[in-house]
Amino acid sequence: MSDATTRAVELTERLRAWDRAYYLEDAPVVDDATYDATLRELRALEAAHPEAARPDSPTQRVAGGVSARFTETPHLLPMLSLANARDDDELVAWDARVRKLLLEAGIDDEPAYVVEPKIDGLALSLVYRHGLLERGVTRGNGEAGEDITANVRTIRSIPLSLDDPAPPALVEVRGEVYIPLEAFRRLNEERIDAGQPVYMNPRNTAAGSLRQLDPAITASRPLAFWCYAIGAVEGVAFGSQAEALAWLEARGFPVNPRIVRVTGIDAVQAACRSIERERERLPYDIDGAVVKVDDFRQQTALGAVGRDPRWAVAYKFPPTTRTTRLLAIEVNVGRTGALNPFAELEAVEVGGVVVRHATLHNEEDIRRKDIRVGDMVIVQRAGDVIPQVLGPVVELRTGDEREFSMPEQCPACGEAIIKNEEDAKHFCVNPRCPSRDVEGIKHFVSRSALDIDGVGDKLIERLYELELVQRPSDLYRLRADDLLPLEGFQETSARNVIAAIAASRARPFGNVLFGLGIPHVGLIIAQTIARAFGSADRLVAAGADEITQVDGVGPIIAEAVAAWCADPERQAELAALAAAGLRLELAEDERAVEGPLTGTTFVVTGTLSGLSRDEAHAAIERLGGKPTSAVSKATTYLVAGAKAGSKLAKAEQLGVEILEEQAFLALLASAG
Ligand code: NAD
Repeated sequence: MSDATTRAVELTERLRAWDRAYYLEDAPVVDDATYDATLRELRALEAAHPEAARPDSPTQRVAGGVSARFTETPHLLPMLSLANARDDDELVAWDARVRKLLLEAGIDDEPAYVVEPKIDGLALSLVYRHGLLERGVTRGNGEAGEDITANVRTIRSIPLSLDDPAPPALVEVRGEVYIPLEAFRRLNEERIDAGQPVYMNPRNTAAGSLRQLDPAITASRPLAFWCYAIGAVEGVAFGSQAEALAWLEARGFPVNPRIVRVTGIDAVQAACRSIERERERLPYDIDGAVVKVDDFRQQTALGAVGRDPRWAVAYKFPPTTRTTRLLAIEVNVGRTGALNPFAELEAVEVGGVVVRHATLHNEEDIRRKDIRVGDMVIVQRAGDVIPQVLGPVVELRTGDEREFSMPEQCPACGEAIIKNEEDAKHFCVNPRCPSRDVEGIKHFVSRSALDIDGVGDKLIERLYELELVQRPSDLYRLRADDLLPLEGFQETSARNVIAAIAASRARPFGNVLFGLGIPHVGLIIAQTIARAFGSADRLVAAGADEITQVDGVGPIIAEAVAAWCADPERQAELAALAAAGLRLELAEDERAVEGPLTGTTFVVTGTLSGLSRDEAHAAIERLGGKPTSAVSKATTYLVAGAKAGSKLAKAEQLGVEILEEQAFLALLASAG
């Protein structure tokens, strides 16, 4: 065998094994980027050495298969895969080829394209005869799939009959089954509560849920469906993809609202980019955009090559998960004294950013996921969320991996560690642990607190080491001369830092209170307490009982605030901050505003597209309304942005009125 053939056999075997794990066992052993790179290598090898290409190569066939657990059912028309474009150049080249082939086929009309989000789930074929759902079949190997009709019937977004008084004799509807992200998160929370291992990702969980032998299990899983294509038809005909989608939508099928029809490659690129920008905010996973030639006559003229139609292409977004080596598990100490384990990783690019560290939550989480030092692990980075380790690739273990346990002494100060059984977190017992102090100062300067630009983590660590800044109030004693001897400082930069610190004296009392880092006191609670008491002096004089009286402040928070205020060291720090000129009382214009929304309370959750959380709160307050953080029966409105989570669910349960972003903006406009 030639070298090329040997390598092709090796790659083929590897891909087959990965396909089995992914499609039949719904438990991938490598990330998609590794899989795609291997497939690309095989394709390039076959192109350069045609003698190494076999007719049953993974480059020629739709991957996936049919499990013996289900009845194998031939498709009425083959279900193909999609060719990929990894960047703009490949997309432009695809468009050029489409135009060239159309011209060669004697079609000189400008092709219009339909651009759709590429849903990261699994493909499903639904056959409706005379308007009734007859069967549901997985894609399988593209020629035949698994009959999972009983399971499909349990998915609520799949109509059991067409909403059509005169349905066609036959229509095959194709689309993607997926699990919405919020439902996935809730499913995992339930599993944690039940002591079961968490699911790795929504795609494989959707596949596993759909391919259950017991439809009752499928019914209990939060599966949903988007349809995006028509297969075999009788008694109805369509001229284009856009027409078919409109027809489906009118008959009760869920068609993704982000699908657009455009002309020209520039508009295609813009549409792909627009979907990519929205990716983080969508309540379901997508891994790209699919571009399809709209006109069915043009599609037919273009045909397919191997497993991919020539009239469509998948424009892939950078992957949000990658596999890499877990080199070590380190622990740092946060401002509350909590020990936070984090992963030291072999550098890997995830979604365009090089990742070297990822969070590991706590020791129990590490145990539950069975993450060991030395493991190959799957790392996820989505949006601006801190990267996290999803779990190990157990198949790639060598036996040299080591289990992790928490240190018995604080890595920062050497004092004892205690475990809080309630949240499974470990804490350093030393209230003056240097790491806590440093983290406390970092919190103090952060955006929502004193918002001191230019005082970064490294500078704080250096100033702490030099004993120039030991607590927040020390910042206000710094002079430019103190900074000049430090590396990287010049006259101007030193003066800028001092000016930024000085400017923070104007920050409102609520932000200062938040910056103090009192346990359990987030920004909204801090602002609520600031408004209720008006000044730090009044707050220190109040006991836990009085603090509990404040709307939205529960007994645990009240106790934490009272204990913090009773500590003489904290009181001294408050006095030092007051002496430094910080605002430890409400400004005149911050005192209760009367307005059209007086008497209403809001909880803003999820991501709003047009304004930040802080801006939404400020807008509510300007009109006399009250932003709060927890949903209760007393909440007037819940404002739900994208990826709204458990608060939305709770509001639904309690019957709180829910406002989507548009409705919220309309309310502000009408009240303002
Ligand atoms: P694909 O996922 O690249 O594209 C085809 C599929 O896209 C269709 O079958 C359909 O299910 C889906 N799709 C979503 N939205 C669509 C839309 N609007 N219109 C049309 N189709 C839409 O190809 P594939 O052959 O299904 O799977 C290959 C991919 O799966 C690889 O790129 C790889 O990333 C992943 N995979 C990973 C492993 C692994 O071990 N990690 C193994 C096998 C496959």
